[in-house]
Amino acid sequence: MRVEIAGDGTPELAAVACLHGNEICGKTAIERVLAENPDVERPVCFVIANEEAIAEHVRCIDEDLNRAFPGDPDGNTHESRLAAEMLPHVRDCAVLDLHSTRSHPKPFGLIAQLNERTKRLACATGTSRVVDVSYIAGGLIDHVDGVAVECGLRGTEQAERNAERILRNFLGVMGALDTLSEAGDPELYRIFDVVEGAGYEFVGENFVRVETGTVFARRDDEELRADQSFYPVLMSTDGYKDILGFQAERVGKLSDV
Ligand SMILES: [Zn+2]
Repeated sequence: MRVEIAGDGTPELAAVACLHGNEICGKTAIERVLAENPDVERPVCFVIANEEAIAEHVRCIDEDLNRAFPGDPDGNTHESRLAAEMLPHVRDCAVLDLHSTRSHPKPFGLIAQLNERTKRLACATGTSRVVDVSYIAGGLIDHVDGVAVECGLRGTEQAERNAERILRNFLGVMGALDTLSEAGDPELYRIFDVVEGAGYEFVGENFVRVETGTVFARRDDEELRADQSFYPVLMSTDGYKDILGFQAERVGKLSDV
């Protein structure tokens, strides 16, 4: 794990990359910002988490780090020990956690706890959509006030550019960096169900409403039809091993919630 503190004092802000070792856009973004030796107005903790997984170009070594928090210093897995080592660095910070995905090219935020601080963080990313993922348990953002961002398609330069823009915007809005930045007012979606199963082809589009009765996935001769309308989120043909993705409802503008 690489931890860099910019500025003096105890950081109140943190930017985290590579909880998943094969999602390097956040690492690129952090390295581009740090390369400028930024003159921060508030101290910021930058974390590049799973360096062992990065070196092997894999999501994780033993288990998903983003399901390993709070972790255990004597745990049986690399990720359990790493989670325990990492959490104290960011526990009291407002956290931006950068990811990439197989499901959707445009950035969107994820929040696990809806409170005034996380709402402000979600707005600070500047993304146009944010998803309440409290239905899915276990990520870093369950343990800190934070927002995760899916910055774009895994392994693309576009995801790296998006991650850099989001990081700079976040640092600007949160008062750490004197830079062009603007808080957004994203549309809030809330996940209410998971679609399980392997080997399905997803034939819809994320954040595009699937009407009741519509086919949204196929496997051989089998079709999945919506038994109620929903918005697909993190849904993809090959993003996960055992699930197709998630079903969400659209709640409204975050500022109205
Ligand atoms: Zn990820």
